[in-house]
Amino acid sequence: MPDANPYALLFEPVRIGPVTARNRFFQVPHCTGLGHLRPRADAGVRGMKAAGGWAVVSNQETEIHPSSDLTPFPEGRLWDARDIPALRLMTDAVHEQGALAAIQLAHNGNHANNHLSRAPLLAPSEMSVDSTMPKHARAMDKADIREFRRWHRDAALRAKEAGADIIYVYAGHSMSIAQHFMLPHMNTRSDEYGGSLENRVRLARELLEDTREAVGDTCAVAFRFAIDEMQGADGMQAAEEGRAVVELLSDLPDLWDVNVSGWDNDSMTTRFQLEDGYQNEALAFVKQMTGKPVVGVGRLTSPDLMVSMVKKGIVDLIGAARPSIADPFLPTKIKEGRIDEIRECIGCNICVASDNLGIPIRCTQNPTMGEEWRRGWHPEIISAKGEENEVLVIGSGPAGLECAMQMARRGYEVTLAEASSEFGGRVARESRLPGLSAWNRVKDYRLNDLSQRGNVRMFTDSPLDAAQVAELGVVNVFVATGAHWRRDGVGRNTQRNVPLIEPDARILTPDDILSGQTPAAGPVLVYDDDHIYLAGVIAEQLAVSGMQVILVTPESLVSSFTVNTLEQHRIQARLIELGVDIHCNKTLASLDSNGATLSCVFTGKPMQVSCESAVLVTERVRDIALHAALKPLGLTTLKLIGDAAQPGLIVDAVFSGHRAAREFERPRQDTDKDWFRREIIDLREETS
Ligand code: ADP
Ligand code: SF4
Repeated sequence: MPDANPYALLFEPVRIGPVTARNRFFQVPHCTGLGHLRPRADAGVRGMKAAGGWAVVSNQETEIHPSSDLTPFPEGRLWDARDIPALRLMTDAVHEQGALAAIQLAHNGNHANNHLSRAPLLAPSEMSVDSTMPKHARAMDKADIREFRRWHRDAALRAKEAGADIIYVYAGHSMSIAQHFMLPHMNTRSDEYGGSLENRVRLARELLEDTREAVGDTCAVAFRFAIDEMQGADGMQAAEEGRAVVELLSDLPDLWDVNVSGWDNDSMTTRFQLEDGYQNEALAFVKQMTGKPVVGVGRLTSPDLMVSMVKKGIVDLIGAARPSIADPFLPTKIKEGRIDEIRECIGCNICVASDNLGIPIRCTQNPTMGEEWRRGWHPEIISAKGEENEVLVIGSGPAGLECAMQMARRGYEVTLAEASSEFGGRVARESRLPGLSAWNRVKDYRLNDLSQRGNVRMFTDSPLDAAQVAELGVVNVFVATGAHWRRDGVGRNTQRNVPLIEPDARILTPDDILSGQTPAAGPVLVYDDDHIYLAGVIAEQLAVSGMQVILVTPESLVSSFTVNTLEQHRIQARLIELGVDIHCNKTLASLDSNGATLSCVFTGKPMQVSCESAVLVTERVRDIALHAALKPLGLTTLKLIGDAAQPGLIVDAVFSGHRAAREFERPRQDTDKDWFRREIIDLREETS
């Protein structure tokens, strides 16, 4: 560590029950969409965090029993001893790098699915399930509670055998049975597990005691507890019962891992909560109630904030899920004083969306996330260049920036040409929309890196054509020219041209809005046939500017994809509060000088709305004219990347640029043999 490192405090060891964390950096449990289905890939993720300097690396919700089955979401699984080897891959990977491994035991009660096991769902009281099937959970009787405690205890023993140093009892995110018992709105029992808070906490207490008794000799027992449901008086509040629970259980766990629930409050996006450390106020009291170490989260990436949180006695350990995903080497960079090299989480929740979609994790800022094992990618290391010396990257959106940065790291002479007057492409433009300023971190991190390298030349105001490319004489060209939005109404739902007003001066696209155009005065209709975030945020911007806005979408929710990023309800609420006139389940049938005709997606019944202009947020068209013009040049390498190759999310563009840089000049057999390593199901087990 450099002399007098102002962050030395963060590198003090912390005793947690029978184990010691080497510093204060604690990767709290987070899902990866890998879990028991792809345990080698999951171990790759966790091992990389440990290599990056985290003192504790946790896995994710780990099913303790078939009645806690989370299928189709691939979380951890410890139903019986056969599940131990898969988890051991993770603990071994973490131990190899000198970190502690934590396993989060979980039983989600009425939030489990049991789609695979078809076991009955369990809850403190009779209630419908909080999952994807219209089923009910049954109130657990005393025998169920005894069984549940036994399953939990046995799973703790298996977790220990799998190599865990820290074993979690889970009572958070509004999705765990121990928490459900605590909540009066879920627990209406009249026995010793219901009624008074002491009774409602009984099950959590028993689980903590059982776990300590079973594994506490060598393993620390952590308690992940949601201190506030963020529902005001309708739910548990930190200032009242949340505090009382901490007081009641005080020194029983070896570690308090505290946060707010549900998950949408815990993992707030920057669009709705820009500041890091946003949970501090809620969790500040916990340390006063216990002598045991406390870990808290809140998208913590600033080392100054981390130090102040420790100094103020808010936490002992700096918890992180998303900051550790965006930058697995965050602790090492802080330790070595490389603060400007931190790849800061942008709070977009694409990682969260992966879990909600049941697919392997991906991260907008860190394209290597989830690719550690299957592609052998390392977030900080990339192979040196081969025979070629020079590359030209055309376009500086997320794809071009990432490609140029990785090429520069590999040692090529890199020329980056950008047509417009600023670098960053769509992230620079979109970050000017309300709530999206953090998108700029995608650009800033890469520009900062590029600007410090001697082998990079970067030009704005340089719209290249084929002749200029030929003149430059660079024979390896990566085309990241992006895509533009359609103006004809064709979108995901409306797959044919919409009859539109002629001339179309009153029709705008997101590109027009992002380049500063404003619609004509009068009501403006925003048509969302893209369903991600852009139409919603454009509607917000127009409404904030004082325009009367009508938002139309064929979906039943505004910005429907954002259910996956945990923001949909906030987006719709904000638009309602801004007075946006929302029409769901409607397509845009036509636009003429009188306004728009909408059509019900179910019945086709038409509806007229009056508007002076429209913003069509539908589909994008790839900008590939330059690529086509370059083909006759016979370049050694000519590759489309990013939105020019396939319009998608920012995460896709970054990944595309990264992959192109990784795979440039790699021996053909490596890339042709397979896309990536796969974890093939071993059928021997099934037939034996
Ligand atoms: P991606 O998401 O794939 O990175 P973007 O749309 O964000 O794509 O960025 C594409 C960038 O390419 C834009 O900033 C655009 O100005 C730039 N660009 C497009 N055509 C050219 C060109 N002929 N020469 C240089 N830059 C270009
Ligand atoms: Fe952060 Fe977005 Fe990466 Fe998740 S996907 S870690 S929110 S940058």
